[in-house]
Amino acid sequence: MSLYATFQERTRRLADLASTVAILSWDQETMMPPAGGVWRARQLSTLAALHHEQLTDPAWEELLERLEEEDLDLWGRASLREFRRQYDKARRLPESLVRELAETTSLASQHWVRAREASDFQLFQPWLEKVLHLKRQQAACLQCSNTLYEALLDEYEPGMQEARLEELFRGLQPALSSLLQRIQASPVFDQVPALQGNFPIESQRELGREIMTAMGFDWNAGRLDVSPHPFCTGLTPRDVRITTRYSESDFTNSLFGILHETGHALYEQGLDPEHYGLPACDAISLGIHESQSRLWENQVGRSLPFWTHWFPRLRQVFAGRLEGVSLEDFLRRINRVRPSLIRVDADEVTYGLHVILRYELEQRMIQGSLEVAELPEAWNQRMEEYLGIVPERDAEGVLQDTHWSQGLIGYFPTYLLGNLYAAQIYACARRSIPDLEGQIRSGEMRSLREWLREQVHRPGKTLTADELIEKISGKPLDTQDLLGYLEDKFRSLYAI
Ligand code: ZN
Repeated sequence: MSLYATFQERTRRLADLASTVAILSWDQETMMPPAGGVWRARQLSTLAALHHEQLTDPAWEELLERLEEEDLDLWGRASLREFRRQYDKARRLPESLVRELAETTSLASQHWVRAREASDFQLFQPWLEKVLHLKRQQAACLQCSNTLYEALLDEYEPGMQEARLEELFRGLQPALSSLLQRIQASPVFDQVPALQGNFPIESQRELGREIMTAMGFDWNAGRLDVSPHPFCTGLTPRDVRITTRYSESDFTNSLFGILHETGHALYEQGLDPEHYGLPACDAISLGIHESQSRLWENQVGRSLPFWTHWFPRLRQVFAGRLEGVSLEDFLRRINRVRPSLIRVDADEVTYGLHVILRYELEQRMIQGSLEVAELPEAWNQRMEEYLGIVPERDAEGVLQDTHWSQGLIGYFPTYLLGNLYAAQIYACARRSIPDLEGQIRSGEMRSLREWLREQVHRPGKTLTADELIEKISGKPLDTQDLLGYLEDKFRSLYAI
């Protein structure tokens, strides 16, 4: 067996373990009876330990060094580079730290749940301090970047430099705040119609499935199920599953959730099955993944062309329940802009401000320039400054997201990077696909999916995020396309 064939065989085994973990987690969220939980936790930790053992096997060192001398093709080179990155990182983390992080974050999450229920930050404070202490140690061990924060960011957005992120977000914040103020001053700011009624879940499911089909979701290689927290999991490019949750009083939740998760799913289904198991056959980063969901959810799914086709069908599916709601009313409703306390309910304009706030606070906590005890006050100050509102309770403020309790620090920025990437990629799709909006207006979305597949999905990790964006748009990532898109869209919706 050639060296490269050995490498391939061994990385495929790692991919098999990872996708087995993914199917067990999917089952836990969707199907597993509650009493199975204890055993499932054991199964997952056994498999995770096995994965870690195989990933950090010292025998890799010689194999990698010898392969690095060889003349490999594009996929081989990219896979070797990616595997080297994962291997070095895993080897640098002492096992005791990995175990301590797993245990501490598991306990911290449980204390976070209680603190949020009681809306009492002090219950969570000592746990967040412990998590931060360990995350700083983790960042120091990784030794892969300029700053501690950047080392953590690199886990989710490989190659993104902190200084670069700072520059992008520093440009965005005042621009978003000022757009928000102009919208709030619009004479039609308050005139957004409500969508009330009773929308049968079966009809929501039917419409969701129709839209997924039109987007090009491959039902032979995927599923749609229900779970309390919607997600997408790609076990292999030929088995990609999404979930949603339904509410009878509000169909927009499940509908836009489905559009979002299907965007993620198309990325996973678009990876090249021929290269399954190679480290390069994977999404580039969380930000690029999020760009695919946001592009379908927002740029396509909240647009006039899209609803010109789908609105008549929507009214038909919910027979009689949307009488008196015009297409224009509906568009204003699904694009309503409001400063709000909760990130996950935020609109396209304020969403970025929620993310920038979290980024600034976590960055300062990792640097050591913000104490955990000062966090609630710092949170509220920034809410006031960026959004003009202040939460009355910590449950609706600093305690609303689970991320920090789980040790996910450096993760929030990928949500906003996703919006930036989405806007830049979609601007290019519009230039490259003849009459894209006309096609969407007639319900035809397959040429968009094909273009994305060709440009973004197929290459997997053979390109870095920077290379991908540069290749598609001919320029590095910037804030222009997102700000231009928001400006155009809300100028007409709010007559500003
Ligand atoms: Zn997402």
